[in-house]
Amino acid sequence: MPNKEPISSSGTILSGMRPTGQLHLGNYFGALQNWVDLQDSYKCIYTIVDIHALTTIETPEDIANIRPNIYEMALDWLAAGIDPNLSTIFIQSHIPEVMTLNTLLSMVTPLGWLMRVPTFKEKVRQMEHTEESVNYGLVGYPILQTADIILYKADTVPVGQDQLPHLELAREIVRRFNSRFGETFPEPQAKLTKVPLIVGLDGQQKMSKSLDNHIDLASTEEVTTKRILTAFTDPQRTTRDTPGRPNVCNVYSLHNIFTNESDLTTINQECTSANRGCVDCKRQLAQNLNSYLGPMRERRNDLSKRPDDIKDILSEGAKTARQLAQATIEEVYDKMGLS
Ligand code: SF4
Repeated sequence: MPNKEPISSSGTILSGMRPTGQLHLGNYFGALQNWVDLQDSYKCIYTIVDIHALTTIETPEDIANIRPNIYEMALDWLAAGIDPNLSTIFIQSHIPEVMTLNTLLSMVTPLGWLMRVPTFKEKVRQMEHTEESVNYGLVGYPILQTADIILYKADTVPVGQDQLPHLELAREIVRRFNSRFGETFPEPQAKLTKVPLIVGLDGQQKMSKSLDNHIDLASTEEVTTKRILTAFTDPQRTTRDTPGRPNVCNVYSLHNIFTNESDLTTINQECTSANRGCVDCKRQLAQNLNSYLGPMRERRNDLSKRPDDIKDILSEGAKTARQLAQATIEEVYDKMGLS
C-alpha cells in the first residue's frame, strides 16, 4: 500500500487522460514525461477520465474497452514513473462529486461559451453529427473538465498551446462562479509545456493510435523494430544512391530524441552523401528506442503481474481525492444556498 507523504510544493497540478489503453511515444513525450517531472515540485493529481470517454462512445466495443483501457493506461503511468507516493492517481468516475460539481457549474455557464470552443466543432465533424444531434455530454465537456480541475482546488494545469482555449473557458467559469457566489475556487493557471512534436510513422501527421502510425511504449522489441522499418523517410530518396535530407526525414527527427550527438552527426553525414541506407538507419533507431524504453517495459512487466496492487493504488488515490472533493462540495453547497 502506498505511503502517501504530502510534499512541499509550489501548487497543485491537475491533469487527466482519457482511457485509450496502451500509450504511445506521442503520449509519453506530449504529456507523461512532463507529469513525471512535475512530481518533484508540485502536489500532483492525475486522473483517468473515464466519464469523458463516454462523450464519444458509439459502439458496444467502445464500452467494453473502457475498463481494460483504464488498467493498461494505469500500468503505463506507473511504469513511466508516476509515483503513487508523490501523486494522487485515480479514476474520475470513482469520485461522484465531480458529477455534482459538473451540474452545479452548468448553472453558471452560457451555452454560447461551450458552442464556440474550437474542439467542439471539430469533434462534431469527426463524429459526423450535427451540432443539434450531438449528445449533451459532448457539448458540456468543458464544464466537466473544469469540474475535474477545481473540485480539488488545483491551481495549475499543464497544457500545450492547443489546449489554451479550454483552460481559458475553465477560468471564465471560475470567475463567473466566484463573482456570483463568492470567492471559492482559484483561477487555474496554464503551465505551458513545450513538447517535441512526435510525428507518426507515416511522416505526415501527429502520432496517433487512430491513424495507426504509432509506437506503443509497451510493445515488444520485435514489434517496435518491425514498425520502425515501415516508417516513411525522405520522399525524394527513391534509391540507395540518392543523397537524403535528414531535415525532412521523420526517422531522423526520432533519432534526434534517442540517438547521441556524435552518432547524429555521423548519420547526417552518411545520409547526405548517400553512404547509409534507410533500412540500416531505421534499425539503429529501433535499437536506440528499445534501449530507451527497456527499463520502462521491465517495470511494466513486473507491475502487470500484480494487478491487485494497481487496483489498490487507484483506490487509495480515490480515497485521497474524495476527501478533497467532499470538502469542496460542502463549501459549494453552502455558497450556493443548498443544504
Ligand atoms: S538514411 Fe536515415 S536520415 Fe537519411 S533519409 Fe534514410 S532514414 Fe532518413
